[in-house]
Amino acid sequence: MSKPRIYLSPPHMSGKELHYIKEAFESNWIAPLGPNVDEFEKDIASYVGVNEAVAVSSGTAAIHLALSLLDVKKGDTVFCSSLTFVASANPIVYQGAEPVFIDSEPDTWNMSPEALERALTYAFYDGKMPKAIIVVNLYGQSAKMDEIVEICNKYNVPIIEDAAESLGSTYKSKQSGTFGKFGIYSFNGNKIITTSGGGMLVSDDTEAVKKARFLATQARDPAPHYQHSLLGFNYRMSNILAGIGRAQLEILNERIRARRIIFNRYSEELAHIQGIEFMPELENTFSNRWLTALTVNENEVGVSVKTLLETLTEENIEARPVWKPLHMQPLFEKAKYYPHSEDENVSEQLFVTGLCLPSGSNLTEVNQQRVIRSLANTIKQKVR
Ligand SMILES: *Cc1c(COP(=O)(O)O)cnc(C)c1O
Repeated sequence: MSKPRIYLSPPHMSGKELHYIKEAFESNWIAPLGPNVDEFEKDIASYVGVNEAVAVSSGTAAIHLALSLLDVKKGDTVFCSSLTFVASANPIVYQGAEPVFIDSEPDTWNMSPEALERALTYAFYDGKMPKAIIVVNLYGQSAKMDEIVEICNKYNVPIIEDAAESLGSTYKSKQSGTFGKFGIYSFNGNKIITTSGGGMLVSDDTEAVKKARFLATQARDPAPHYQHSLLGFNYRMSNILAGIGRAQLEILNERIRARRIIFNRYSEELAHIQGIEFMPELENTFSNRWLTALTVNENEVGVSVKTLLETLTEENIEARPVWKPLHMQPLFEKAKYYPHSEDENVSEQLFVTGLCLPSGSNLTEVNQQRVIRSLANTIKQKVR
């Protein structure tokens, strides 16, 4: 008998979700609109402190709508963090535009302001400024938003903040996802709170979000005969799933607390190992610690990330390398890329040394100890 599976970041229901689902059934709001959708949008807007939010079918859809609202189209370029999940950049291609990838910096693992500044300077002299910049907050850690916002303002380029992984995190006490023209969240099954699948687009520009809601509902002009002047999408969130979201948002702060405790336990028990370093938390920021991520210096630890992953897999524990940088993906082979500096390629380095450990808010201490023991034993054996 193999040991029970430990997942990287499984869903964690509170039980209250059923109440809102039942309401949806009893009122027969089994549709991509309804009272749960309206309330969930209001709840998110008020939690993160923005004027308006629209609930959609995925985080990817939210990014796509943001790009569409910024009129990104064929021939345009959009700058995007390289160290991220492919969904951050795919919508750029849906719009027929070209992504340009920006490296990370070592303090947050997120977009390097230095690389961004260099890329914008080149773009400026080329006379081909990007239509937008997509900044990702990896594993819950906010990017260096002051620097990034300042550079983008200088060049007058709007920011889309991909906060799919960082709902509830803050930067200088301001909620993650509220720094750009648009912010997006994801409620995919593996995120810190989930609706099974879903997303949210937020902004202080009420009119823009209203337009997003219109586009996400097939861009139906106000006429009884289904008239359309613009190209729309079918991107709204189901009223049943929004019910799950309402209950999940009520316990978001508890989920963040649990994930931070898990992070702290890993770091207390493993930080003494020479060559292991945990993902930093930048001063004046608060990370939801969606995933516990660390780097392994193979020369010092005596074991590679690959070996650690193999042993964890043998023990039925799901762990992962950090995201493969998008500029290294076959899909984006032809895309331009700006490294952090001439001799520092931070995202590529993190890809080789990075490891994400099981971090679900429902991970028990006993199971977490299984992960810790597996890592510690593998390292000890190989070192001897
Ligand atoms: C999950 C994720 C997305 C996409 O969200 P979906 O809801 O799965 O479409 C986008 N960006 C990042 C960084 C993510 O982690």
